[in-house]
Formats: sequence, C-alpha cells, structure tokens
Amino acid sequence: MDKFTQNYVEGFMGDVIARNPGEREFHQAVREVVESVAPYITSYPHLMDQKILERIVEPERVIMFRVPWMDDRGEIHINKGYRVQCNSAIGPYKGGIRFHASVNLSIMKFLAFEQTFKNALTTLPMGGAKGGSDFNPRGKSDAEVMRFCQSFMAELYRHIGADTDIPAGDIGVGGREIGYLFGQYKRLKDKFSGTLTGKGMTWGGSLLRPEATGYGLCYLAEQLLATRGDCFEGKKVNISGSGNVAQYAAQKAMRLGALVQTLSDSDGFIYDPEGLTEEKMAYVFELKNIRRGRIKEYAAKYPQAQYFPGERPWKIACDIALPCATQNEIGPEDAQNIVSGGAICVAEGANMPTTPEAIRIIQGAGLLYSPGKASNAGGVATSGLEMSQNSMRQHWTAEEVDQYLRRIMQDIHTSCVKYGTEPDGTVNYVKGANIAGFIKVAAAMTDQGLV
Ligand code: NDP
Repeated sequence: MDKFTQNYVEGFMGDVIARNPGEREFHQAVREVVESVAPYITSYPHLMDQKILERIVEPERVIMFRVPWMDDRGEIHINKGYRVQCNSAIGPYKGGIRFHASVNLSIMKFLAFEQTFKNALTTLPMGGAKGGSDFNPRGKSDAEVMRFCQSFMAELYRHIGADTDIPAGDIGVGGREIGYLFGQYKRLKDKFSGTLTGKGMTWGGSLLRPEATGYGLCYLAEQLLATRGDCFEGKKVNISGSGNVAQYAAQKAMRLGALVQTLSDSDGFIYDPEGLTEEKMAYVFELKNIRRGRIKEYAAKYPQAQYFPGERPWKIACDIALPCATQNEIGPEDAQNIVSGGAICVAEGANMPTTPEAIRIIQGAGLLYSPGKASNAGGVATSGLEMSQNSMRQHWTAEEVDQYLRRIMQDIHTSCVKYGTEPDGTVNYVKGANIAGFIKVAAAMTDQGLV
C-alpha cells in the first residue's frame, strides 16, 4: 500500500473510531474492508468525492428498543432489542437476528456492515441489516422463548416487511424462534407474507435453508482446495460450534469424504479421532436441536471421544479448519496451532471468527483462507431463494435449491479470484470479497444520488 493510501486508511479509521467510540468489533470489521478497498477507492476520485465509503459505514437506520417479558415464575425481565439497517442500495435490508448475552450495538453494527458486502457478493438483490437482543435463550423453556419472541416482534414489526427488511436466524435464533417471531408478525400485520426467512417447510420455508450455510461453506472450501488440485477426501477437518452452521458443515464435509474430528460449544470441545459418522451426526442433531443439550454429552455417549472443557478445538492438528461458532474465536495462538498442525485451509463459517493478527499468521504461512462474508454467504443466498419462492408462490425441490447454492458459491469464488488475485498469482480472498462487494454497492449508491 502506498503512503497516500495508507494515510487515507488511517485518517478514515480515525474518524470512524471518533464517531463510534468503544465499538471494538465494528472498528475491526470496518478496518478490514477499508484496508482492502482503499487502493481501489483512491484510484477512482469520484468514489472519494461522493464519500461512498463514509456513507456505507454510517447505517441508514438504527432501531433500539425495550423488550420486556415474563418468565415461567412470573418474574419480569427487560432486554435490549436492536435492528441495524445498514444499506439498502441493492435491495431491501436482509440479515439475521441474534439472541445471545453478548449482543450489543457494536456487534450488531459489525454484523450489519459485513452483511452488506456479503449480500452484494451473492449476486442477489439484498441490502444489509442485522438485529438481535442480549436475551440468552440457554436454559429457557419453550414458553419463555415464545413470550420473548412475541415481545421482541411487538416492536420490530413496524420496521420490517417483505419489500423493506426481511430478517432471518443467527446465533440463538433457529426454526423454533423464527416460528414464534413469524406467528407474532402475522398476527400484528394480519398478513401472511415472506417477511422472515428460515420458515418451516409447511408455511413458506425453502428446502435446504437449514443446511445452506454449512453446505455452502463446504462448497466454497471445495473451490479453494481445487485451486491447489486438492479436495475434502481423506482430510482431517476441525469444526468449532455445534449449532446450525457447524452441524451442516460437519455433515457435508463428512459426506465429501473428510474425517470430522471436533465440535464445540461455549463450554468446551469434543475430539473424536475416529471422526463423525451419519449415526453420530443423528445423535448430534437430536442432542442440540431437540434436547438442547451440551456438546460434552457426546463424549459420554462415544467413549473414544475426549472432552476438553474451557478450550477451543484449534490445538488438535487438522488439514482444514472451519470455525463455525462466533466472532474472534481464532486468536494468534490458535492460528499458530493451526499452521503448525499442518493445515492447508481455513474457511470461515462464522462471521469474523479470526482476529486480524490471526489472519496475518494464516495468510503469511500461505494457507488458503476465506473470510466469512464469502464462505458463509450460502445461508443468506438461500434465504434470497426462499424469498423468490414466496413471491412466486412456488416450492422448489432440494436438488433445485442445491444447484442454485452451488452455482452461487462458485460465482462468489470467481468474484474473489477476479478482484483478489495478487501479482504473484496467489488469491487474497479477503481483498477479493471486499472489493467485489464494494464495487456493486458503490455503483448502486452512485446511481441513486445522495440519499
Ligand atoms: P447457533 O446458535 O445455531 O450455534 C452457535 C454455536 O456457536 C453454538 O454451538 C454455540 O455454543 C457456539 N457459540 C456461540 N457463542 C460462542 C462463544 N462466545 N464462544 C464459543 N462458542 C460459542 O448459531 P449459528 O450456527 O447459526 O451461527 C454460528 C455462526 O455462523 C455465527 O457467527 C453466525 O453469525 C454465523 N452465520 C450463521 C448463518 C446461519 O444461517 N445460521 C449464516 C451466516 C453466518 P453455545 O450453545 O454454548 O452458545
């Protein structure tokens, strides 16, 4: 990066930090994009004159609200609710809802910002948003989760709609929560519309939406590996998380012939040296999605597996690492472990799971590395396909959706290669994804004038 561009980045980040004090995750996400797109922007003066990047980092709208609800014992609780509508230049706002104790404005803004670029990459017409609450669904009864979802939607419904903003799931928001949210939305609006995605199969959901993020991650990772004439077959794969993304990433990696060795949750990880099987996966689905249990129970059920409380899976040597839990879950030490364990590829299922320092270590060691905004885009892309099916009143087969998903992941890979190929022929997927997403959003913003 030349001196002028470097000064531009530092000046820009200084302003972002001053205007958004204390929002650490948001600063981290913005810096990654700004460092990638700055050389492009500084060579197109009209983008600087139009202050496109300055506009993108300021969400179009931030909604914050009170979510009061009552637990099963009659005690009242108050949570914070958020919806950050970041950018609608290329389509209605679209992005998940997260229920997790750690949720705050910084995390919502970083996720909405990332979503804007990710959605642009999918080639579908979707703007970027994110929402959520610091509500922790862990240990809550179905009735408590339902009352919470109804209270959350009692405010959110004013701000969303099939042509305005279409939320979906994320951490802590799966099929059960989408059902309760949709039921309340429908009741308040007296309208059956495709305003949420991730819906049940009997009421407007798309086949393969639950699988899409994890499957899409593996399809993108396949593309990365293919650039070096490699594939999943026979590879040792470490996965973090044991929720939606992790489960289907594990299933697909296993079906592609890999040995999936680990899964985790926020309490620890399991290492199964014999690898997951269809039967073990069926147990994980039942454990996590029906009984809502903890991953340590896996080690009790399958004695060859070991449980490591309070640790992350990255100290176990693997060929492919698929972080699928949460942001900043691979730090510098984890990255060193991944590299020294002989890995060839890190593809992110979670959003921003790798810290900037860890990314430098992974890229510096020459590993294939794909950022979440490219490799986990299959989820939102299939949400886009769910919206299309809802509008057309159609229901596509799993094979049709899978074909679209594969093609979209291939197109994302092609865009990353187009904009991320370095002079030495290697591909910087972070740069490629950020520039490809930025170009599309910036062009739409330029066309639409100063709004
Ligand atoms: P789930 O809630 O289904 O699963 C999350 C998993 O991550 C759980 O195993 C959870 O463990 C673990 N986890 C959450 N927070 C932490 C933490 N602080 N430390 C360690 N483990 C943690 O969420 P998803 O699978 O849907 O989402 C996972 C990631 O993928 C997120 O980054 C999300 O933004 C991203 N993503 C999800 C998409 C989707 O379609 N669902 C689409 C694109 C990205 P525990 O049960 O202990 O909390």
